[in-house]
Amino acid sequence: VTSADAVLQALHDAAAAVASGLSGLDDWGPSGGRPDQYRSDVIADAAAVDVLTRAGLGVYSEESGVHHPQRPVRVVVDPVDGSTNASRGLPWWATSLCAVDAGGPLAAVVVNQATGARFEAVRGGGARLDGRPIRPSAVTSMGAAIVAFSGYPSRHVGWLQYRSLGAAALDLCAVACGSLDAFVDCAAQSLAPWDYLGGMLVCSEAGASVAEADGRELVLTGGGAVGGDRRTIVAAATGELLAEAVRARRALSE
Ligand SMILES: [Mg+2]
Repeated sequence: VTSADAVLQALHDAAAAVASGLSGLDDWGPSGGRPDQYRSDVIADAAAVDVLTRAGLGVYSEESGVHHPQRPVRVVVDPVDGSTNASRGLPWWATSLCAVDAGGPLAAVVVNQATGARFEAVRGGGARLDGRPIRPSAVTSMGAAIVAFSGYPSRHVGWLQYRSLGAAALDLCAVACGSLDAFVDCAAQSLAPWDYLGGMLVCSEAGASVAEADGRELVLTGGGAVGGDRRTIVAAATGELLAEAVRARRALSE
């Protein structure tokens, strides 16, 4: 599998396999494995990894680590982003998949598994929600912005309204399609590549902006050798709003 379209289809197939794997699940409680791991995480991971590896792709999953690292295209997977929401019946949780090659993120699919909303993006090919092109809002200042947070800010730094929704991949996609104006990770370095890479490509292809609060790289190149290093992600509808949001995020650390 090398063409971007074929990779994109494999990502959709993996997300669909997760949906069907979870459709009969009655017990959404803890897995009994890692302390923050749910049964849904384990089932979703097995479904996604099976589809992706049979499609000839490498995998780097939050739940099961690295599969076939020698393959030229590797998919960074969060089988369930927002597992706690899923366990509580809150309809904001997703499967996030981002295929990475030597050129960086190549294709991404983020599916809200509670509602079925499907975000996709291809490098240089734009971003879509349920097949329709998306674009961010035109908001340029925090004073006019609805901002989503991961973690919580220690004080008001100028937003108009805020939300804290519990699934970063979907929060980023909501910035990409104009439902939110910005996203700010208020916990220090809390997001891993499987949380943000899919939503990041959807944002950049839609025309929204994504940055790391301390200016660190978001994609480690070299055949998609993305590590588990955490990052502090800020995303915004416009470049002006991104600059203000990054300043606000830095001010929270002072
Ligand atoms: Mg997860």
